[in-house]
Amino acid sequence: MPESERAALPHTPADHVEPTLDPDAPLPIFDTHMHYSQEAWSVFSPAEIIDKLKNAHVERAVVSSTPDDGTRMLYATDPARIVPFLRPYRGNVTSSNWYLVESTPPYLTERLATPLHEDGAYRGIGEFHLHYEGDANTPIVREVARMAVERGYYLNVHSDAAAVRAIFANEPEIKILWAHAGMTEPPNVVSQMLDDFANLWTDISYRENAIAPDGVLDSAWRDLFLRHPDRITIGSDTWINPRWRGYQQIIEFDRGWLNQLPREVAEQIAWGNAARLFGAVDFR
Ligand SMILES: [Zn+2]
Repeated sequence: MPESERAALPHTPADHVEPTLDPDAPLPIFDTHMHYSQEAWSVFSPAEIIDKLKNAHVERAVVSSTPDDGTRMLYATDPARIVPFLRPYRGNVTSSNWYLVESTPPYLTERLATPLHEDGAYRGIGEFHLHYEGDANTPIVREVARMAVERGYYLNVHSDAAAVRAIFANEPEIKILWAHAGMTEPPNVVSQMLDDFANLWTDISYRENAIAPDGVLDSAWRDLFLRHPDRITIGSDTWINPRWRGYQQIIEFDRGWLNQLPREVAEQIAWGNAARLFGAVDFR
């Protein structure tokens, strides 16, 4: 896009990554909400997962897994494509109790110190769930948030808006990738959150049917995307195997409504925003 237009977009830093390329090719996607959790391991090998991404023109992906070994397997298979996040869930430590279990911070510390394939590095902690606003103020969540700030990691948080506000109140410098645009929060609330917090980005996984009922882009969501074109990302959320089986369709559905946005907005949401956070690869 011309420099003059780019300057008109809010919050667009000068180092914005220009993603595209060939306007007739499928929009490249940076999938920022992916899991390769245990139930998938015996059904889809890491190489088969990477092939699914390639076939869907998903050039990079943020991955977290239950347990974390899934992320490490995918990373070792295609380190240029995979951006590893560390999820705290393991064994009987789950979304419902991870923030109460005292072994969580030492587990994360140990795991973060365990080298990934070819000296790769985690870029964030999560996805984790906070079911109630008050959970964000438990000592363990506060410690994990502190750890993220100190190390420059993103937190990938599955929660409502109130819990995100609570984390920012505790750690104003933190960077949060908010899962599922708050899952149940309406687009006007998401928009307000992005107005209020400069270090907040959000993926739209699981909101697809509200975003584009029958494939037609909803006007309230369009308003959100046009107001915050630099803060929204695509996510598939492959938390169970049916999501992997339908992976290509999920991504194709997203491309369908992305293509109803102005091209430069679609490119940012599809690819550019996540590339700015996590780095690009040359996939031409
Ligand atoms: Zn998820």
